[in-house]
Amino acid sequence: MIIDKKSDFDVVDLSFEEIDKGFTPRQAIAEAKRCLGCAKPHCRAGCPIENEIPQFIKALANGNIGEASAIIARRSNLPAVCGRVCPHEQQCESHCILNKKGEGIKIGKLERFIADFDAEMEITQPEACPVQNKGKVAVIGAGPAGLTVAGDLAKQCFDVTVFDAQEEPGGVLIYGIPDFRLNKEVVRREIRKMERLGVTFRNKVLVGQDITIDQLFQEGYDAIFIGTGTALPKRLDIPGNDLAGVVQASYFLRIVALANSGKISPREIPVSIGDKVFIIGAGNVAMDAARTALRLGASGVTVVHRRGESEITALRSEFEHARAEGVTFRWMSSPARFLGDEKVTAIELESMAIDESNQLVATGEKQTLPADKIILAIGQRPAARIISSAGGIEVDPNGYVITRERPYGMTTRRGVFAGGDVVHEPATVVLAMKEAKKVAAGIAMYVEAKKLIEECGV
Ligand SMILES: Cc1cc2nc3c(=O)[nH]c(=O)nc-3n(C[C@H](O)[C@H](O)[C@H](O)COP(=O)(O)OP(=O)(O)OC[C@H]3O[C@@H](n4cnc5c(N)ncnc54)[C@H](O)[C@@H]3O)c2cc1C
Ligand code: SF4
Repeated sequence: MIIDKKSDFDVVDLSFEEIDKGFTPRQAIAEAKRCLGCAKPHCRAGCPIENEIPQFIKALANGNIGEASAIIARRSNLPAVCGRVCPHEQQCESHCILNKKGEGIKIGKLERFIADFDAEMEITQPEACPVQNKGKVAVIGAGPAGLTVAGDLAKQCFDVTVFDAQEEPGGVLIYGIPDFRLNKEVVRREIRKMERLGVTFRNKVLVGQDITIDQLFQEGYDAIFIGTGTALPKRLDIPGNDLAGVVQASYFLRIVALANSGKISPREIPVSIGDKVFIIGAGNVAMDAARTALRLGASGVTVVHRRGESEITALRSEFEHARAEGVTFRWMSSPARFLGDEKVTAIELESMAIDESNQLVATGEKQTLPADKIILAIGQRPAARIISSAGGIEVDPNGYVITRERPYGMTTRRGVFAGGDVVHEPATVVLAMKEAKKVAAGIAMYVEAKKLIEECGV
């Protein structure tokens, strides 16, 4: 088993405050002035939603932050969020031409600065259409996909209502990504902008249970969008997985988010001061869970991964942060069982190896280590609640909703559309937004055709 210990690091902030404080106005304008304003901007080609990057940077360099914000708003409904959590290093920033000459432009931080400055100074004010007469659309799920569809359609004068099962809208942005990476007030601010665009939010409505797709159509909606993400965590079928102290990462992060916003008692958080915590999995969710456990006072946090360091799915930057903060990694290691009577007290790990045919194999070499909490971060899949309560919506064998190209995003049931993680498997905020933008266009096209047919009396 290869063990990777904490790297050298200068300053480690283990509070829940946002770590990255963003640019000051002076820094932002200096950075914007470095941009070459390329005629063929590679940065834009690297942005999944084709943000007009050189244009908003130029406006910022000229000191016109309102104009910069208005340019961003043409493509994105969530700039303050994207500026913080998008993997810019793999997208726009990696394409910046200035990387060849030294250092590329920090596009994400500029986007964040513009969005924050605009919101704090209230420079631009989104306005609702005087009449929302293009059609009535129900959006199920208030994560990045649902919010994008809602924002895009509201801007086109649709009457949009967003239904979400949780107490407040935002999806993973509120209940998944921890505060130290994304301050929840930033998400709430983006939601308020949507309300000003005329979007109505109905929280604590579990569609499929409290109301069905059929009932929504009976209420007069012309189209329905499903953006319900991947709510069901995958299970690890090994002995001991039902012991107290073995929890899912999505549950753990949601409870911490609720406790941090004062909605539940911190006593409900399943990690306590001094706990020895093991995280199973090495994706972004695992890194967030590990870093959160450290902030709760765990005496040791170890990420367990069946493969080597080069084969993690987490962003390199997230992994580096976790390691720098003190998370330990056990590479080529797999949990064989969790031990304890009612409560977990130990974890048995088995070493893995790569055989001659390049296959990952268990070696039989095992080691037992004391453990107080185990957090499973091995993936998620969609829940079936909506599909099973509504006829005609087909899913693939793994439960992902099947959609078509024309009108873009329509499911096998007419008038019902879907997008985001519930269609494309867990990905990123901006990929959910990219697809959702195309689905919003598909919904607009569908509703327009539907209205035309109704008007013609066909
Ligand atoms: C811990 C964590 C960290 C992440 N970090 C990053 C990151 O740094 N950068 C990045 O780009 N991506 C990150 N991601 C991935 C990203 O957040 C998701 O890809 C994105 O949120 C998917 O958006 P979505 O709208 O499809 O689904 P979600 O955000 O999951 O939203 C789905 C919404 O649907 C609601 N819902 C579900 N079922 C029902 C129902 N039956 N009735 C009513 N409402 C319902 C849920 O309450 C939820 O609000 C992270 C994910 C997690 C879990
Ligand atoms: S590629 Fe870099 S330098 Fe060129 S426009 Fe984009 S951000 Fe500016």
